Amino acid sequence: LHYLNRIDENKHLNVFLDVYREEALLKAKQIDHKIQTNKPLGKLYGLVIGIKDVLVLKDHKARAGSKILEGFESQFTGTAVQRLLNEDALIIGMQNCDEFAMGSTNENSAFGPTLNAADNSRVPGGSSGASAVSVQAGLCMAALGTDTGGSVRQPAAFCGVVGLKPTYSRVSRYGLIAYASSFDCIGIFSNNIEDNALILSVIAGADDNDSTVSGETVPDYSQHLSFKRKAKVAYIRETIQGESLQVEIKEKTIAKLDFLKKEGHQVEEVDFQHLDYLLATYYILTTAEASSNLSRFDGVKYGFRAPEAYNLESMYKLSRSQGFGEEVKRRIMLGTFVLSASYFDAYYTKAQKVRRIIQDETRKILSEYDFIILPTTPTTAFPLNSHTENPAEMYLADVFTVQANVSGIPAISIPNGVDNNNMPIGLQIMTDVFKESELFAFSKYLM
Ligand code: GLN
Repeated sequence: LHYLNRIDENKHLNVFLDVYREEALLKAKQIDHKIQTNKPLGKLYGLVIGIKDVLVLKDHKARAGSKILEGFESQFTGTAVQRLLNEDALIIGMQNCDEFAMGSTNENSAFGPTLNAADNSRVPGGSSGASAVSVQAGLCMAALGTDTGGSVRQPAAFCGVVGLKPTYSRVSRYGLIAYASSFDCIGIFSNNIEDNALILSVIAGADDNDSTVSGETVPDYSQHLSFKRKAKVAYIRETIQGESLQVEIKEKTIAKLDFLKKEGHQVEEVDFQHLDYLLATYYILTTAEASSNLSRFDGVKYGFRAPEAYNLESMYKLSRSQGFGEEVKRRIMLGTFVLSASYFDAYYTKAQKVRRIIQDETRKILSEYDFIILPTTPTTAFPLNSHTENPAEMYLADVFTVQANVSGIPAISIPNGVDNNNMPIGLQIMTDVFKESELFAFSKYLM
């Protein structure tokens, strides 16, 4: 009830597209009953959690922040969400996001922008912006988002909460509306490391419905949260010295590195030659995958169909033209272009090769060091409507987050103080694949 009231009081933030009021109250009653009658309780009982509108829940609307899914209700529940339910978590509602998870501000949603709770004139980040705000504003305890190029970590940084992107393949993507399948990861927002670790233990692991999920055993991450040894930490000079880096972020990141040195950890600068190629690689490959994934929204199978269509072709054209927003159309066109016969080798194949080099170089650093530390974002949250004119400028702001997605490694954003306007700053820690346990423990040590 507390959280339902909080949601009502904070409607102006535009966090929830649907609140599952009756179901939440019913579930709370059932759990109460279990407690009264000494029945066994799930690991997540008492946890009130929200989910991003790209994760499907049976018999509930899923829109991916888009008009094109108007009227669509899912016939099944995705794996991660089902695992939350199995452990008695209480799912309180569906949260706004950028359309098909494309964006960095939540302004690309067909359902209006979500506002940052620290300053309502600023964006919460994106694409899982509303999920970050839900935790920031205390509308629920945790939230599931998705991170394809930073969409959990960047809004976590902008809102001052913890945001984890696990190893690619750690969590099943079954029931996640795809943006770029070889990058998409379900991630977790929380106020602290403990909740994040516990939730990952529940949602991670093999799944018959997604053949890309790893069968690697899932430890109980919440039981391994003390970090006692000395760490080897790397940082890439350009990521903490760049000219476009906001000065308070630079100072706060360097301060953390200095703290680590003082505590006796080994902190060293390393070379990474490929920073300039990260964004191009990410945007070529993700738009290519998106153009293919989004071809299923054709006015036939799901949701919206343009009423004035007069034949098959006009139905496709009108439904897609009217159903998709500007940014999604831009990316479908870009992706179709890089996949077109005459440009395929010049862009797509080249980008795949560069992806491999980035992956190899990143993992080479992580074979010598435990962690790479860098800021999550070059600036704190921007004002609303500040990037509508120039989408390419917006893409540049993803420079620190996409490396983890291109490489498939886990990464986390933890709060690292505020800037002169009291806007939250995020610190990002990356580590090698399947080392989430160490990542959690080290993050807790740093918080
Ligand atoms: N901002 C990035 C993009 O627009 C990240 C998106 C994401 O991770 N879903 O593609």
